[in-house]
Amino acid sequence: MKSYELLLHDNKDWAANKQNDDPDFFDRLLHVQTPEFLWIGCSDSRVPPNEITQTEPGEIFIHRNVANLVINTDVNVLSVLDYAVNHLKVKHVIVCGHYGCGGVKAAMNNHDFNQVLNMWLRNIKDIFRFHRNELEAIEDDGTRLNRLIELNVEEQVFNLAKTSIIQRAWKREQRPDLHGWVYDLKDGLIKPVFEMKAGTHIDPIYEYDNL
Ligand SMILES: [Zn+2]
Repeated sequence: MKSYELLLHDNKDWAANKQNDDPDFFDRLLHVQTPEFLWIGCSDSRVPPNEITQTEPGEIFIHRNVANLVINTDVNVLSVLDYAVNHLKVKHVIVCGHYGCGGVKAAMNNHDFNQVLNMWLRNIKDIFRFHRNELEAIEDDGTRLNRLIELNVEEQVFNLAKTSIIQRAWKREQRPDLHGWVYDLKDGLIKPVFEMKAGTHIDPIYEYDNL
């Protein structure tokens, strides 16, 4: 059996087992999707959101990209955010990075990865520049990388708060709360590193006054 055929084979097993354990499982999900959480995570195959949080289909709305970035001009992430906040009415948005992230690591060196990846990683280089003093004071390469990974998550939470999507929901419905987490590949534990409750004020230049 080819590797991708194994996926299809295992999918059949999974569906049969689900049906067996809980005969209403698929029927229930078919008619309603009411996840409480939007998860913005890294595409890294070792950080599967449902598995590490022991959640089921239907519980988390998920967007993943390289190094879990929230970019102001990224129609993809902003569409997901808009839908999750305005239609699914999620109560929490979680940005979850992970220690040892290859995307963040790539941004820390001076290698040319060609245009598209260079464009993406530039956003992380900017975060390094904001925190250059703190980061350069860290001698160990791995520790410095992991600190940038935490700072990246924090910055992406700020990026969420800068959007009119979040600010409008904060003003009208006092939700969602924003969370910055980092998953540790070494022990499977998630460390919360930053939190922004609904309604938090940010640098006034980013706050819209006609929402
Ligand atoms: Zn990663």
